[in-house]
Amino acid sequence: MPTYSELVKPELLSQSVYKPGKPIEYVARELGLNPNTIVKLASNENPFGASPRAIEAGKTALDSVELYPDGGCYELKNALAQLLKMEPDQFIVGNGSNEVLELLGHAFVREGDEVVMGEGSFIVYKLVTMLFGGRPVEVPTINHRHDLKGIREAVTDRTRIVFLASPDNPSGSANTSSEIEELVEALPDDVLFVFDEAYSEYQDEPVDLRPLIAKGKKVFCTRTFSKIYGLAGLRVGYGYGDPELVSLLNHARAPFNVNSVALAASRAALEDHGFVSSCRIANAAGLRYFVECVESLNIEYISSSANFITLNVADGNAAFEAMQREGIIVRPLAPYGMSQWIRLSVGTEEQNELAIKALTSFLSR
Ligand SMILES: *Cc1c(COP(=O)(O)O)cnc(C)c1O
Repeated sequence: MPTYSELVKPELLSQSVYKPGKPIEYVARELGLNPNTIVKLASNENPFGASPRAIEAGKTALDSVELYPDGGCYELKNALAQLLKMEPDQFIVGNGSNEVLELLGHAFVREGDEVVMGEGSFIVYKLVTMLFGGRPVEVPTINHRHDLKGIREAVTDRTRIVFLASPDNPSGSANTSSEIEELVEALPDDVLFVFDEAYSEYQDEPVDLRPLIAKGKKVFCTRTFSKIYGLAGLRVGYGYGDPELVSLLNHARAPFNVNSVALAASRAALEDHGFVSSCRIANAAGLRYFVECVESLNIEYISSSANFITLNVADGNAAFEAMQREGIIVRPLAPYGMSQWIRLSVGTEEQNELAIKALTSFLSR
């Protein structure tokens, strides 16, 4: 009798299963702590929750939950088109931007194709590539920033996609507009450049690749409602680019991939500019506080433009364990080949102080 492992596609076995941060309730049970006292700064979630308008809209949507959602995401795409001054047919909405990234794999990655990305970048690029039998080509970073010249040089005839996140996760480092535009201009016409903007709303001057899309460059951008909009639990993200590309990606998309509560909440969230800008301001203050503290603690950090900071604490797993015992959950970065490092999300002012207290006591152990 063959086992299931012998029956499945070999690409599947090459996949490691994504390890998310542990849920608060799980940690509380493990350590015998009260879940209400635990601070989770492990997944770059919004410490201020979501816009009250988004939550209200989501609740209202529950009243018609017996109906299938709008499979075309008509209203959300219109709202996005208005916001970004593009056309609705330039948008595709996914069950998180993760799903949009996976659609790109469905559409472009064949067995043996190469997909280029920076080393230690967001792990989903690698997972998507390998799921479809492609070969991830990882380009070493320079001082924890992606080397865009190196990425250009890594592109061959077999390259289908180049993935870049800026700011990236887990480093938090960003590339400049001119570096990115130069890379796009230098890429061959048959390579798709995918720009992941998961943290762009946290930047004062985010990179804007819409002019390159308008010019016909092979550029596709992805964004998410999981970070500054605080809707990670609802799973909504989107991508935008050329209408032809978007329409092709729709061939790979499941009919009702985004649920009705998520659609209603994300649309309302888009309209609450006040919430978004207050989160951006609080995040910037939190980052400044972290930088001040870690500089005085004399630990190495990566300069961040996102909603987290990545710290060299000599032993990431030990820091993770020690801080968790004090009720602070952070992300150890050994799975990213950075075993000395942890990633600490920016929380509320109070959470940030608790995190620094736990980190300080770990360092002085
Ligand atoms: C958090 C994150 C995302 C968002 O994923 P969703 O599926 O939309 O929740 C995408 N890219 C990067 C680099 C991220 O860190």
